[in-house]
Amino acid sequence: MIVFLLNIMNTPFALSKTDTRLHVLGVPLDPATFASMLELIAGWIAAGDRTHQQDHHICHQICTVSPEFVMIAQQNPAFMRVLQEADLCVADGVGLLFAARYLGRPLPERVTGSDGVPLIAQRAAREGWSLYLLGAAPGIAEQAAARLIEQNPGLQIVGTYAGSPAPEEEDAIIERVNASGADILLVAYGAPRQDEWIARNRERLAVSVAMGVGGTFDFVAGVVPRAPRWMQRLALEWLFRLIRQPWRWRRMLRLPRFVWAVIRYRERAIFYPSP
Ligand code: UDP
Repeated sequence: MIVFLLNIMNTPFALSKTDTRLHVLGVPLDPATFASMLELIAGWIAAGDRTHQQDHHICHQICTVSPEFVMIAQQNPAFMRVLQEADLCVADGVGLLFAARYLGRPLPERVTGSDGVPLIAQRAAREGWSLYLLGAAPGIAEQAAARLIEQNPGLQIVGTYAGSPAPEEEDAIIERVNASGADILLVAYGAPRQDEWIARNRERLAVSVAMGVGGTFDFVAGVVPRAPRWMQRLALEWLFRLIRQPWRWRRMLRLPRFVWAVIRYRERAIFYPSP
């Protein structure tokens, strides 16, 4: 752990330096910023509008990857494939920024779902994009929608629904989302279910963008408090979540495991470089 923390301060070597995707333990990460993510979304929606008539529609998938995602993917090859096939994987978790820097490929910034969704809503209100909020406990998506509309007058939220990621509900949910005519679908079923749900249904979703957003609706609705900025800046958001939601401790054991796995991963890359 100490070696890891010391090394991120001073990366002594670079595995390779490009501004393309990097991989941490097999999971792709794009060097995205909030601004570049919004530009990609704008492009996808514009392309979707052009191709709608030609029945050639593509639903683009965004995953907000955290160290927890990376560790789940080590045990779950189907989830690994979902991440590898997503159109954009942003680093939502300070541990990934540290890991990327430690591997010699620093990422520009942390792009979280909880900060990204309000920014998407702001841009959506300006551009006329419509949103559908799927998931979270009953009533929460409605509350989150009301907040977002209050903050962004004119924002079109064309549907909210809690539902569940159970396969037997899938057809009915797809029908609701497609009937709404939404451009962007935000799915809050937690990882890996939300991302697997999107991947399995991409082909038949008529939205241009679908993004897994974890606990974002709970934050936006104000039912779960977000860590104060100073804790986020000190990379202590995980500690805040652990104190507020102590039942997460078992899930959060993945964090130290992630650190250890990244250290071993880099050692392998140094001592046994691939030909
Ligand atoms: N959730 C849900 N249905 C489920 C499982 C989870 O609606 O079957 C919601 C839950 O209410 C929460 C979100 O999914 O709003 C995921 O929360 P979590 O805190 O686990 O996600 P994280 O932010 O840690 O990825």
